[in-house]
Amino acid sequence: MLCPRDHTELVIEHHAGIEVDHCPTCNGRWLDQHELDELEAQSANDAERRGMIEYAKRESELNCPVCSERMVAFNYRANPLELDTCPNQHGWWLDAGEEGRVRDLIEERVRGLSRAATAEEAWGDFIRGIGGKGMSDRIRDLFRGGRR
Ligand SMILES: [Zn+2]
Ligand SMILES: [Zn+2]
Repeated sequence: MLCPRDHTELVIEHHAGIEVDHCPTCNGRWLDQHELDELEAQSANDAERRGMIEYAKRESELNCPVCSERMVAFNYRANPLELDTCPNQHGWWLDAGEEGRVRDLIEERVRGLSRAATAEEAWGDFIRGIGGKGMSDRIRDLFRGGRR
């Protein structure tokens, strides 16, 4: 598959157990449709995930690397994070740095949700799921916080 920006051959790499196609030239990343869902998976319930809001939809300057159709650009959850997505649901293009920011947003959500959590163990599994090793320690600190 070729980079939609500069047509470099994309290289497969793994992030948090998720396969990502990475462009060595511009550092952009392509995620298959289901991969962003996995990245988000347990951070939102189904209703929230269906609401994965496409703010400020507009035409992208990029074409889908799978079907070559012009993609659509939108902001991820009203944040200043622009993603491009294929109208035929082949996947998502993230420019350099954006994937990390998606993960930051998810971790932010985790921190918010953890206040309502009842089982520390469930959170450990969840955090391992999104690949944040340091996060599980931070979450444990949160649980210990009350006793400090
Ligand atoms: Zn590129
Ligand atoms: Zn496509």
